Amino acid sequence: MASKKIRTIEELGEFGLIDHLTSGFTKKQESTHTAIGDDAAVIDHGSYYQVVTTDLLLEGIHFDLIYTPLKHLGYKAVVVNLSDVYAMNAAPRQITVSLGISGKFSVEALEGFYAGVQLACERFNVDLVGGDTSASVTGLVISITAIGTALKEELLLRSGAKPNQLVCVTGDLGAAYMGLKILEREKQLHAEDPEFQPDLKGYDYVLERFLKPEPRVDVLLALKEAGIKPGAMIDISDGLSSELLHICKASNCGCQVYDERIPVAGETAEAAGEFQLEPLVAALHGGEDYELLFTVPLSDFDKVSAIPGVSVIGNITDQSGKALLVGNDGNAILLQAQGWNAYPDTGM
Ligand code: ADP
Ligand code: MG
Repeated sequence: MASKKIRTIEELGEFGLIDHLTSGFTKKQESTHTAIGDDAAVIDHGSYYQVVTTDLLLEGIHFDLIYTPLKHLGYKAVVVNLSDVYAMNAAPRQITVSLGISGKFSVEALEGFYAGVQLACERFNVDLVGGDTSASVTGLVISITAIGTALKEELLLRSGAKPNQLVCVTGDLGAAYMGLKILEREKQLHAEDPEFQPDLKGYDYVLERFLKPEPRVDVLLALKEAGIKPGAMIDISDGLSSELLHICKASNCGCQVYDERIPVAGETAEAAGEFQLEPLVAALHGGEDYELLFTVPLSDFDKVSAIPGVSVIGNITDQSGKALLVGNDGNAILLQAQGWNAYPDTGM
């Protein structure tokens, strides 16, 4: 009897797995404009586009309640979805929130979570319109869906990059990852010695970046005011390296970015030093910054450089799929996609 080979998920990787499982689905609805493969799905409503995105957050995989206050978690769970909506250059309108709740949670704890959800709804002007609630045996499970709308001429996809366009990022990178590393270190020290009192003084910036990410709505507005129409856009949730490769793959192009131009905050570099980690590694491979990565026409160099909080880090090339990191010495290395991590130790 022929035995069917059983494959592990690691063999395919996260994105390979999604491709593999979904490639047999064909489009049946005229209104399905963009399906799997962007920050959000796009539905054509004739006069405008609707975008839909969803995220699943699992206790022990994506968050650790030992050092994540529930209010922060509620806020962040909403914001990471809104970030995907903004990355389409769309405006978020509604969210749904579904929870799996284990017996250890009190009503007061869940009120804390919803206080964070509400704060995000107020700040970003979105309505909570539904969800689902269930018991769970594996701690807290959070699934949030966000719905937004975009003017047809303003929608931005990952596939819009063209050779010679400039590659830009907002803010600075790697800070959230260093915030996570600090929290994990203090948790470990406390586990080894219960008398140990975590001291988080001096780490405010990186901790805030990890616990309370803010989508870059300000930069989207500034781009609009400056009359700049980006080519491609994506939010940086998994690290710059992985997002650059997503744009290259979707746009069928390559890119080169210059390591000295990648923005890293002083606080991030200092924290990285404590872990003997190159700050650039945190910027390239650390996740959860929720900054924006986008391309603009070369002719917009002056205009885009004048926007506060935007760095031009490189350019798009015609070398399909090849993302190069160019060092000071002119030598280039090929950026690699992150692998599937079956046993996450970073919470990402
Ligand atoms: P992001 O990091 O922006 O949240 P993901 O990397 O999670 O996006 O997902 C990449 C794409 O694959 C998205 O279009 C998402 O909707 C789709 N996707 C992820 N998981 C599944 C799944 N199990 N079935 C169908 N589509 C999926
Ligand atoms: Mg995204």
